[in-house]
Amino acid sequence: MIDINQLQKNFGANEVLKNISISIPAHQVVAVVGPSGSGKSTFLRCINGLETITGGTITVNSHVINAQSPRKVQLKEIHSIRQETGMVFQQFNLYPHKTVVENVMEALLVVKKMNKEDAYKISSDLLAKVGLAEKEKSFPSQLSGGQQQRVAIARALAMEPKLMLFDEPTSALDPELVGEVLKVMKDLAEDGMTMVIVTHEMKFAKEVADRILFMADGVIVEDAKPTAFFENPQTERARKFLRQVS
Ligand code: ATP
Ligand code: MG
Repeated sequence: MIDINQLQKNFGANEVLKNISISIPAHQVVAVVGPSGSGKSTFLRCINGLETITGGTITVNSHVINAQSPRKVQLKEIHSIRQETGMVFQQFNLYPHKTVVENVMEALLVVKKMNKEDAYKISSDLLAKVGLAEKEKSFPSQLSGGQQQRVAIARALAMEPKLMLFDEPTSALDPELVGEVLKVMKDLAEDGMTMVIVTHEMKFAKEVADRILFMADGVIVEDAKPTAFFENPQTERARKFLRQVS
């Protein structure tokens, strides 16, 4: 599903991702953890072309972003990857003047050119799936943060992505709202969705992920099953990180 080879990303003189190579098969749920500034968000953003890459290649479902390719070629590949990838950020970025169901319908109408009736049916079903059937006609401002984030997830799912990327989807939420969003993500994982999740929720990572990538200073320092990583980290860097977050 995802094949990354010798990925490098610099911001000016700052080498943020240093020769990362990794493969993620379909249906795997990967949690990316690590200290602030280690490059987790940058790594995720490179996967769907939100950052231009300095070196290496990223292949997602046979679409290849090659740092050496002309920008025009890269953009074409990025466009294909985005069609198949859903991304959910810390901030929900819903359209404030559209209702909840209209937010979910938007891409179906605009990108897929679907008729309103079909788009509504799909969106309504997705809102039910994330537990928001009764909020269809509400506006985002009338929803809690946890509910808004669930709308953002439903909106991403509307495009039937093959891959979902999450960048700290619960870190802007009040603690009591975190659980409802993690529950939706857990259901998605159980449905077999391929997911890459940057998170500070170690308990969730341990419970739901198939694999942990521990990133520090732009390098994947550990790549392990959750039990191995949390119970028996191999590096001092990871042990230090785990002491700080526990
Ligand atoms: P956090 O846990 O705090 O979200 P992170 O692991 O997601 O951290 P990144 O946001 O990927 O870290 O940042 C990694 C490094 O890249 C940092 O040194 C950051 O300052 C730098 N960086 C990120 N985005 C940019 C940008 N647009 N321009 C310049 N430098 C950037
Ligand atoms: Mg980040």
